[in-house]
Formats: sequence, structure tokens, C-alpha cells
Amino acid sequence: MVDRIPCIVKQLMKSEKARLQTFSSWPFTDPQDLAQAGFFCVRWSDLVQCFCCGGELSGSDLKDDAWKEHSRSFPHCFFILGHNVGNVPLQMDDEGYPEKGCPPCMKTLKERLSSFDDVQHPVDPKKLAEAGFYSTGKGEEVLCFSCGGGLENWKRQLDPFQQHAKHYPGCKFLATTKGQAFINNIQLHRHKRQKNSAAIIRNVASL
Ligand SMILES: [Zn+2]
Ligand SMILES: [Zn+2]
Repeated sequence: MVDRIPCIVKQLMKSEKARLQTFSSWPFTDPQDLAQAGFFCVRWSDLVQCFCCGGELSGSDLKDDAWKEHSRSFPHCFFILGHNVGNVPLQMDDEGYPEKGCPPCMKTLKERLSSFDDVQHPVDPKKLAEAGFYSTGKGEEVLCFSCGGGLENWKRQLDPFQQHAKHYPGCKFLATTKGQAFINNIQLHRHKRQKNSAAIIRNVASL
């Protein structure tokens, strides 16, 4: 693979946050989606470039979601293939815990599991806890102890790890537990599973 990005840029753009910041005046598709899929905006142009493979795409050509476009155009990209290429997902501080601060007590499986003690949940609490979630005590609402991501409207057949990867692909706990390849795979197929989905809790801060 030809490396077309200057070393310093490549280093900098491993950070999803830094990538997102390059899209300040981007007129095309969702910048968050692009940054999460490894792209940053090339200065003074309508091009996006991948921090890993260096692949470039034109903003006006991006019709599908960023993950799909990336894997279709650059199928051999190590980031897309799920290798550890040093990507730093958004939302994390250096420890891998959210900046907005989740209850520190929910870091262990046992504590997350006990948060479901008085909750009737359609999904097996053990599976939810293993996937990083704890109950907020409000209906089916759960939050991830690591990324702070919240989900509600669960159905019995939903897999917590898959839902986690689908809605919060930047979660460090998820990457450590299941591996980047698992997350990338879910992202690539997420539109097929649109009907079978938990819902994102939009206003987590107010919980
Ligand atoms: Zn790439
Ligand atoms: Zn998470």
C-alpha cells in the first residue's frame, strides 16, 4: 500500500476528535460518520482522506454511509479490516473512560449486574452487564460504563454487544473486549439490521 500521507498528519489524524475538527465547514454528508470511519477533510478541498490507507474520496460522491464507501473503495485498508492501527475513538480520555464521568462503581461486571436487581428487562441482564451496560433504574434504559452510551427500547432477541457496536463504535471497552474487527463488521452491516435495533437515548446528560 502506498503511503501518501505525511507522517505528522498521519499521527495526528489517528485521533477521531482531530479528524472531526477538520470538517468545520463541510457541506456534505454527516462529518461524524466520516470521522468515525477514519476520514478527515483535506484542507482547501472537497476531499476526504483515510488516516490509515490514505485513500481519498470526493465529498460530493459520498452517497452511502462512510463505512460502506470506505470498504467498497479501499477494501484492503487495515483500519477497515480491523487491525490495530492506533485509532483513538472519540469520547475517551486517556484511561478509556468517558469525559462526562460515569459512576466509577460500574466498572466491574458484578456491580453492573447488581444494577439490574430490581429491573424487569427483556434482555438477559448478564448479557447486558457483560457488554458493559448497567441499568439506570428507569425502565429498559441502560448506559455503558466506558463510553457513556445509552440505549433503550430493547427487544428480547437483541444482542447487547452487537447493539453496543452498532450505536457506539468508538467505545474503548468494546474494542478491548470484542476487538476492532467485530465492531467494523457490525458497522458494515448495520443498515441490514435497522429494523432490529435498540434506540439511542438522546439526552444521556439528563439522566
Ligand atoms: Zn482506509
Ligand atoms: Zn461503551
